[in-house]
This record gives sequence, C-alpha cells and structure tokens, in this order.
Amino acid sequence: MLPFLKIMVRNLIFGPSTDPFPFAPAKTHENFRGCAVFDPEKCILCGICRHVCAAGAIQIRVNEEGTGMQYLLWHNSCVFCGMCAHYCPTGALTMSSNWHLTHLGEEKFTNCISSFIHFGECAQCGAKIQPRPQAIVDKLGPRSPERFLLCPKCKRESIAKHVAKVHSITTQDRP
Ligand code: SF4
Ligand code: SF4
Repeated sequence: MLPFLKIMVRNLIFGPSTDPFPFAPAKTHENFRGCAVFDPEKCILCGICRHVCAAGAIQIRVNEEGTGMQYLLWHNSCVFCGMCAHYCPTGALTMSSNWHLTHLGEEKFTNCISSFIHFGECAQCGAKIQPRPQAIVDKLGPRSPERFLLCPKCKRESIAKHVAKVHSITTQDRP
C-alpha cells in the first residue's frame, strides 16, 4: 500500500495524530519549560535568580520607603532556560508547562510577574532582614536554628556566645 494511503487508513481508524488545539488542550512533554511561576510566600529575596538569569529578565529593587523589595520577572525577556528555578533555594520559582504567552505589543511591559515582598525583622533586635517565610521555617523543621531568624549582627553575637560557652566547658573538663 502507498504510504499516504497507509496514513489515510490509519487516520480513519485511529483518528488524527495531531493535537486538536485550540479546540482541546495541547499536550506538553513533562519536562517542557514554559512560563515561570513565582510564589512570593517562599521568596527570601536572596537574589540568586537575578544573578543567574542570563537574559536579564529579573529585577529586584528596594522600594523608596525601604520596607521591602519589588520583584519583577518579564516573560518577554525570559528564554525559558530554567536556571532561576534550578538555583532558587526555596522553590519560590518554578517552571510551568504553560506556553500560552501570546499578548499585544503594548502589553510587553505589563506581561510580567510583579510582586512586592516585605522585609522581615530580626527576632532579637527587630532590625530589617531578608524575609523568613513561615513555609521555609516549617520546611527546615528541627534543622532550623534560632539564628536563622536573626540579623547578621545578632547572629555573630549568638555564635560568639556559643563558642565561648563551649570553650569554657572544654577548659573546665581539663585535668
Ligand atoms: S527561565 Fe532563564 S531566562 Fe527566564 S527568568 Fe529564569 S533564568 Fe531568566
Ligand atoms: S525567587 Fe528564589 S532565588 Fe529568587 S530571590 Fe526569591 S528565594 Fe531567591
């Protein structure tokens, strides 16, 4: 049988092998990298995503009042490399299989992830620190030392006290 006849017969029996999109959802491969998704509840404003983004699609900027940071990710500039999601330490950034990114030219600057994230407070002195989302504290569980909730200064003091205590214990134990 001629090849095209074979295909016709196969399609008549099994139906077409192409996607019926837009009349039904199009199938995407499980590893397909589409639109990035951001969860502000998990972001600790570490800036790693911005650092690894070769396309310059991510901007993180302190607001004028200094109360937090504006997080922006432009879908138009993103090249779907997935580096930001790969290096994000908290899972705040993930790549979805959504490829429906068509939009009008005038929407190119608004077609983005835009989220404001408030700074956290040091559990000891109240100084502004990067946020410590409860979702991350819960995830760390018993591995989360109290120092995780401290500012760098209080953290240093806490470590120094701990070292001094350990040192005095070991010195006392000496014969
Ligand atoms: S997927 Fe790649 S290009 Fe897109 S925002 Fe993340 S690092 Fe940047
Ligand atoms: S999204 Fe992830 S990598 Fe980017 S600043 Fe937030 S926690 Fe850091």
